[in-house]
Order: sequence, then C-alpha cells, then structure tokens
Amino acid sequence: MTLHTVAEQSQFRRTGRLDEVEALSTAFAERWPNRVRSFVFGHSAEGRPMRALLVAPGGAFTPGALQERGIPLLMVQAGIHPGESDGKDAGFAALRELLGGEPLVEATAGSHIAAHPPEDDPLSRIAILFVPAFNTDGHERVGRWNRPNQDGPDETGWRATAHNLNLNRDYTKADAPEMQAMLALLRDWDPLVCADMHVTDGADFEPDVSIQVEPIHLGDPHMHGSGAAMRDALLDKLAAQGSLPLPFYPEPVIEDDPASGFQVTAYTPRYSTGYFPTRNRYTVLVETHSWKNYATRVRISRNAIVGLAELLAAVGGGW
Ligand SMILES: [Zn+2]
Repeated sequence: MTLHTVAEQSQFRRTGRLDEVEALSTAFAERWPNRVRSFVFGHSAEGRPMRALLVAPGGAFTPGALQERGIPLLMVQAGIHPGESDGKDAGFAALRELLGGEPLVEATAGSHIAAHPPEDDPLSRIAILFVPAFNTDGHERVGRWNRPNQDGPDETGWRATAHNLNLNRDYTKADAPEMQAMLALLRDWDPLVCADMHVTDGADFEPDVSIQVEPIHLGDPHMHGSGAAMRDALLDKLAAQGSLPLPFYPEPVIEDDPASGFQVTAYTPRYSTGYFPTRNRYTVLVETHSWKNYATRVRISRNAIVGLAELLAAVGGGW
C-alpha cells in the first residue's frame, strides 16, 4: 500500500477520512517494524478509534524504555479541530521522510515554501508520538463549508465533538471522553514537547504561520528562557524555508475588530497552550494561516514538525 496521503495524491485538493488514518498507520508499522508502533488509545463518543503512532529509536516502544534511555519524546497532536487537517497530512509526510522514506510531494503550483531535508537523523535521538486525528467524530463530519474562510481542502471536518464540545477548551474540565483518553495518554507517555497543530480561523494578514511557545508568557519562570530559545530557533528555521512567521498567535485586542490591534494571549489551562505548562512541559501552538492554500500550509506544517524534531534532538537530552 502507498505511504502517500490522499492530500498528496490529489495535489492537495482533498484530505483523507479516518479509514486513511487507520490504513496509513498500519502501513507505517509494517514498513518500519523496528521503528514504528501503532496503537489505539481511546474511543470517541460515537465509538471511533483514537489512533497514535510511536516512532522510537532502537525499538524503545514503552514509556519506561524511553525514560531509562533518556530519549526525549516529541508529541505531534493533530486534529483537535478536525477542519484544520494540515497537521495530519504534514505529520504523516514528515514521519515518512524522517524515517528515510520519500519527502512530502511537491504541489505543481501555488507554494513558494521550500522544505530543507532533515538535519542529521533526528529520529536516532528522539521519539515522536503522533496523533493524526484527535477529534475522530468531528473528523468524519465533513462538509464543503465547515471552514468557509479556509483555502482548502475541498471538504473538511467539523470543529467540535459529537457532544458539541471544543476539545481545545476541555483540558482541565475533561468532560469529553476524547479528552479523558488524551489525558491518560499524556500521563502514560509524558511528552517533553507537544506541538498542537492548527489553522487560523479567518482573519486575513500576511504572515503564513504563527508559533506560540509556552512556558514563555506563563508557567515556571525557570523554563521561559529555554522556551524562548526553542521558539526563536524554530522561527529562524521556518524563515529560512521561505515563511514569514509570527512569534505569537495574533488575536485582536477586541474580537472582530482588527483595527484594535493584535495582542499576545496567555492561555488558561483549558487550552493546550495553557495546560502543558501546568505539567512543566513545553507546548508549541502551530497555526498556519487559513487564507494560504492547502499545499502551502501542509508544507509549512511539515517544516514546523521537522524543525521541532531537529531542535529537540539537539537540546532535548539536556532538558
Ligand atoms: Zn484550531
């Protein structure tokens, strides 16, 4: 079976459904049996499987083995908002490339974003835990106008769960069975850095991606310096590949009034961006800009994931 995504096969016009997540996960584990494990860590309100892929050096496939060998774990969490599928399609392509397979397919038109090959085999020093589709029920509630201010794919999933809960407001109250499963996954694996992959919600501006890292604006002050260093290094990597990245998520001072200016928000722990700092772990909010086309956004998301893998391979052992 192909290890390429529906997105790549369709010139980034479409994104796959949950059957693709299941099939690709199986295919990755079969292609790299000594490097990849695929497992279900929970079920959605409607009973759909919640899938994770673990890619680890030398078969360190348990949390204990990672701990014992001091292998830092990078989590890539995609699809907390399923219409924002960039992280899912970029994540499969980035893992494939990092494992020595083919790089992300080039779109024939529409992207000026480059992609440098990964530096120095990051997967020899770190492990990656990839959740392609956190909100699996929302992932399957597809429609053409679920994300009207977003330039592709043609059909997208829906923001909330089957219980109409926004999972990126549920980290501390944990009402959703999906969040309860995620919190158990985090308890078991304890990732050092979690990249939470999103797309902006509709405001138009020039920068093509925003990166907000915490702890910088909140959390343990002892972590602020290293958080800021990781953010700045990632911004440099993205800029070197042709992006115009912002160092924070641009929220208007007054909602729906862009003339009020943009501000940095220190998120409360019901958001991923506020939650991970309460565990003294780093989080990276990656928000590609919804008005850029899908091929461009997936490429930028790939660059963010590969860049973080390189950075964590360099400094994660010390952390
Ligand atoms: Zn989002």
